[in-house]
Formats: sequence, structure tokens, C-alpha cells
Amino acid sequence: MSGWETVIGLEVHTELRTETKLFCSCANRFGDEPNTNVCPVCLGLPGSLPVLNARAVDYAVRIGVALHCQVQPSIFHRKNYFYPDMPKDYQISQYDLPIDTDGWLELPGGKRVGIERAHLEEDTGKTTHVGGGGRIHDADHSLVDYNRAGVPLVEIVSRPDLRSADEARAYVDELRAILVATGASDGKMEEGSLRVDANVSVRPVGSTAFGTRCEVKNMNSLRSLGRAIDYEVARQVRLVEGGGEVVQETRHWNEAEGHTSSMRSKEEAFDYRYFPEPDLVPVVPDPAWVDGIRAALPAMPAELRRGVAHAAGMAPESDAVVTVVRLGLEPFVTATVAAGADAGLAVRRLANEVASEIGSLANLGPEQFVTLLRMESAGDLTTAQARTVLKDMLTGGGDPAGIAAAHGFEALGGDALEAALDEVVADNADAWARYVAGEDKLQGLFIGRLRGATAGKADLAAAAAILRARRAAGC
Ligand code: ADP
Ligand code: MG
Ligand code: ZN
Repeated sequence: MSGWETVIGLEVHTELRTETKLFCSCANRFGDEPNTNVCPVCLGLPGSLPVLNARAVDYAVRIGVALHCQVQPSIFHRKNYFYPDMPKDYQISQYDLPIDTDGWLELPGGKRVGIERAHLEEDTGKTTHVGGGGRIHDADHSLVDYNRAGVPLVEIVSRPDLRSADEARAYVDELRAILVATGASDGKMEEGSLRVDANVSVRPVGSTAFGTRCEVKNMNSLRSLGRAIDYEVARQVRLVEGGGEVVQETRHWNEAEGHTSSMRSKEEAFDYRYFPEPDLVPVVPDPAWVDGIRAALPAMPAELRRGVAHAAGMAPESDAVVTVVRLGLEPFVTATVAAGADAGLAVRRLANEVASEIGSLANLGPEQFVTLLRMESAGDLTTAQARTVLKDMLTGGGDPAGIAAAHGFEALGGDALEAALDEVVADNADAWARYVAGEDKLQGLFIGRLRGATAGKADLAAAAAILRARRAAGC
């Protein structure tokens, strides 16, 4: 794609974790028996009236504050269109006066992505097409579940600031972490709690004007978002390089076949005939209430990364730091710092051994974790032994000293270590002479042989120090 720049803006719909729906008291719950959480309001029966859910507004404000938006007075509109999963034949949404405007989100690498707006709206029901390929055209029949109709959503619209599929994925990943941190969303993409539409265009490198965009729908994982964008960019570049033109349209991502296809063009776009919802009053958040919500928000992921990175002496965007915060493991780092143990070692162990057994995290207490780090730092356990003990702590629980004793682990140090080194040196006399003469890289050979000779029990850090000392002494 050389010579072309990708431009992406994302629209993310997040379901809010309220007990009830946006305008009625039906339960907001995923996975219930279809059409059991319904009432005259969310079924759109004549004469029923919506009543706004205060908790949903609270969550929308939390999202706005976390994304550095202005929280402003807003009103609801009716967005009119016909589809079987929308019983009222209109969706109550916000249009020209959304509750949150003009914010930003910071990616782990430091780039700021603009947030144009975030607004409240209700979800539609869910249609399942049975038979054929699961699409409406070739289905035998369709089933509709109205349990989701009226579930509160916040739609978050980014500015066209993203420049690659990787950046788009990083944005959604960060946004999801922020939404979960605010308590507004459970972030479960696999349950449809987070749904992403991608607006994609290309332009010649150096151009400041935007190209014509296509909006791609139906990606249900970060992986398919990345694939869909890569496909769409390649398609548009091929089209333009072949003398054609991108037409503005909505396209559908086909996960199984790995391509996008046209759903509807600009000409076929719905005319939604927006007008103000007459059954609801404007929402005017009291600034003092908004300030209270701001003050009560917990630390967001970017701030947590900075804290962990600082403690560990690492960069905030490093994979280990990002992983520790994504998995909510920063309390272990805090405990390590409080105990005066090695926070860098803590982050490495958390991002590797603990992250790979994250399902067993409940077995690991911060105090035991810190004790293990101490044993390793003091040379009572080798790195290999510490890893084994930590795996056992995660899978079965228990204290590190007990587990180490049960394994017969004891780092080989002191005289025993010196003796083991004597043997390794004697067995590799040639290499030793070259090492003493200045071939630094041979140190790895001695360490490797030592590890083998002691079945992994040698304290390798201590051994390396002894090797250097002996070489400096010229023997
Ligand atoms: P619509 O109401 O049709 O969805 P918006 O102007 O609200 O249109 O834009 C929707 C999304 O499209 C936003 O996320 C925005 O950043 C993005 N966008 C706008 N223009 C472009 C473009 N040329 N290329 C890529 N994304 C774009
Ligand atoms: Mg759109
Ligand atoms: Zn209802």
C-alpha cells in the first residue's frame, strides 16, 4: 500500500450495565429466555410512555468525564426507520445535542485520538435469521427477541484520527478498558456489549484532504476489526489505482469469507426524519453533580500504567506494563512497592507467569507473591525455581516457602556453587582460557553448562558474578 495513508474513525456502541432498560423497568440481562423481559414501553404499544433511567445518565456522564468530554445539556430525538427488531419503528437517540462532546482518549503509546461525541440511545431487539448463510436474503425464516429492545447504549464517535488497523485495535482495547474502569460497561465483545463500526478511507501520502469513506459493520472481535480494515484499505487502494472511485456506502464484513460487501449506498441511505422526542424532557446535568461523578471515578488505565511503569522503571507503553494493567494486576505491584521488594521483577512475573494462569488468580495473595519475590531476589531460589513455585501457587494455592521445600528447592550458592563452577571450568579449559583473554560472550557457555550440571539449581546471578571476579583476578 505504499504511497497511501489510511484514515479511520470508529463508532463504538457500548451497552450500559444498568439493572433495567433505558425507558422502562424491564430487566437488562443477557442470555435470558427470549421475549421474557418486555413490557408495553419497550414493545412500543400505543399509549405507553418512556421514563428515563437515571443510572444510565450517570453512566453516560462517567463515560464523558473519563474521555475528557464536555458534559452538556442534551435532548432526545426520534430516529425513524422500519425494521422488525425495532417495535416502535423509531429509535430514541440523541442527535444534534448529545450529552458528551469534544473529548479525547490517549493510546498506550501516547497518541491522543479525538472523541467527537458520545450520546445515549436505546438498543434494538435481536433478529436471528435461520437457514441459508444466516443472512436475511437466503434465510428460511427469522426469529426476533425483544429482550434487548430498549437496553441503554452509549455510542462513542471518534474523530478520523486513526491511521492503521493496529491503531484502531489499540483504540478499541483502550476504550474497552476505560469503559470497564468507569463501571459503565462489562466490555464483553463476545456478548455484543461492545460493537464497533469502522469508517475507512485512503488518501495519497502527504494529502491533507480526506478521501471518500466506507462504513464497515459487523466486526465482533478485535481480530475481525483488524482484518476488515486491512481488507477494506486494500480494496480501496486497488480501486483508486485502477482508475476507479470509492463510493460512500455501508459495507458488511463477512468473517467466514474474509471480505466486505456492499449493504447500501449513499443514495439508498435511510432518511431518518429526526425530530425531538415529545415524551421526554431535556437532560440538563447539574455541574455540581458532574463534578461529584468526576471526583468519584477510579484511576483510569493510562494513569495506572504510569504508576506501574514508574515503580518498575519501565516505559508505560511496554507490553509488560500494558498487560499488568489490562489484567487488573496493579494491586500486586502496589503491595510489592509497599514491602520494598523489586517492582521490576514483580511486573515481569505478573506479565508472564501470572498472566498465563490468570484464571487461577484467586489462589494468589499479594503477601505470598511478595514473599516469593523476596526469596528470588535474595538468591534463595533461582529464576527457574521461582517460576515453578509461582505456577504451583497459582494452580493450587499455598505459601512459597512450603512449596519450595516440597520441591526440595534450594538455590545452590556459596561453597557448593564455587565447587560446581570449578568442575565446569576444568571440563572446558580451552574456553576458559579464551574467556580470561577477553572473549566475553563465552560467559553464556559457562552459565549454560553450570545450569545443566546442577539441574537448574545454581543461583545463576551469583555464578555470573563469580565468573567475572575470577576472570578479573586472572585465574
Ligand atoms: P455519519 O453520521 O454518517 O455516521 P459522521 O460525520 O458522524 O457521519 O462520521 C462518522 C464517523 O466517520 C466518525 O467516526 C468520523 O471520524 C468518521 N469519518 C468521517 N470522515 C471520514 C473519512 N474521510 N475517513 C474515515 N473516517 C471518517
Ligand atoms: Mg455512522
Ligand atoms: Zn420494557
